[in-house]
Amino acid sequence: MVSRVIAIDGPAASGKSSVASRVADYFGIPYISTGSMYRAIAYVASGEGVDCGNASAELLKPVLSKLQMSYVATANGMQLCVNGKFPTSELRSEKVAALTSVIAAIPEVRIWLSVKQRELAGAGWIVMEGRDIGSEIFPDAAMKFYLTASPWVRAKRRMAQKGETVSGATLEEVAEAISARDRQDSQRKVSPLKIADGATVIDSSDFELDETVGVFIKLISRHRCEYRVPYADTDQMGVVYYANYLEYFERGRTEMLRSVGFSYRDMEKMGVFMPVAEATCHYYAPARYDDLLTIHSWIISARGARMVIGSEIYCGDKLLVKGSVTLGCIDGSRKLVRLPENLIKACSIYLEREEK
Ligand code: C5P
Repeated sequence: MVSRVIAIDGPAASGKSSVASRVADYFGIPYISTGSMYRAIAYVASGEGVDCGNASAELLKPVLSKLQMSYVATANGMQLCVNGKFPTSELRSEKVAALTSVIAAIPEVRIWLSVKQRELAGAGWIVMEGRDIGSEIFPDAAMKFYLTASPWVRAKRRMAQKGETVSGATLEEVAEAISARDRQDSQRKVSPLKIADGATVIDSSDFELDETVGVFIKLISRHRCEYRVPYADTDQMGVVYYANYLEYFERGRTEMLRSVGFSYRDMEKMGVFMPVAEATCHYYAPARYDDLLTIHSWIISARGARMVIGSEIYCGDKLLVKGSVTLGCIDGSRKLVRLPENLIKACSIYLEREEK
């Protein structure tokens, strides 16, 4: 199973929220900050007399049993609704942040929230950001990232965000508070902050926000897979036969569909087939025996019965071949039929967008 979740995990103040909301906006999909869900529990619990010194499963049990928490789709995106209200700045205070890290280490709290978080992923794509999204909540997430930056850079960013730090705090103090939260989050027994298996690590210490967002968009919108050229694909000179590139395009396309949970067998079961109707291939440089190629695939258009898939093949940074393949969608009696809606939905993340 593949969950159509783009999981972005990472330490405090690494820029996850800003990046996640911009990425979600670019792809036109919802964005969920799971940190806000933990903060909301801390905020409500703090109103009930829970603090860093006394927080325990026993004290939190009655808080959780009364707590109403949901994400509501509004004109401003998904908003966290807590007991009928939409708290925002209240969740960002240093006091709430400190209590959040403490209550987040309590297994009962994590279990309560994990159910809610899993319910949020439906049929469509979603960006979910937190500490354990790729490792615990959605180990089957279609895409996993770990965003980090040095404690110093993160402290500077946090100081630039109003209301996030105690007023008058120095950069050293903020960096120390952030490092303390990192320690607490990564050393706790339950769901510690860690790099999930298969996650791409992005260190944004030297990047401006726009650059980091650009890196994410590039990585998400194109499927990449690798292929080591076998001897059998080449001529006596060790150069790949031209015709093989179309096969490589096909390999990229199959892997792209697989990455979002679709296989050709699934399509066959649905009674649809997608043979190649047309292909173009521009050749720039040769590939040779033993080269490690990276095949980029994306969807140029998916309308009616036609899907056009773009492909580029690189060896390192060098573009070798660029082309496209047009697939026609047919049923068992070879009649053209509309592309299945669930297929279009599943691969929408790879659909080429106008530059914003
Ligand atoms: O991301 P944000 O800074 O809002 O998260 C606040 C706190 O919530 C984190 O320091 C962490 O202790 C906790 N958290 C967590 N697991 C998540 C998201 C947040 O433990 N998935």
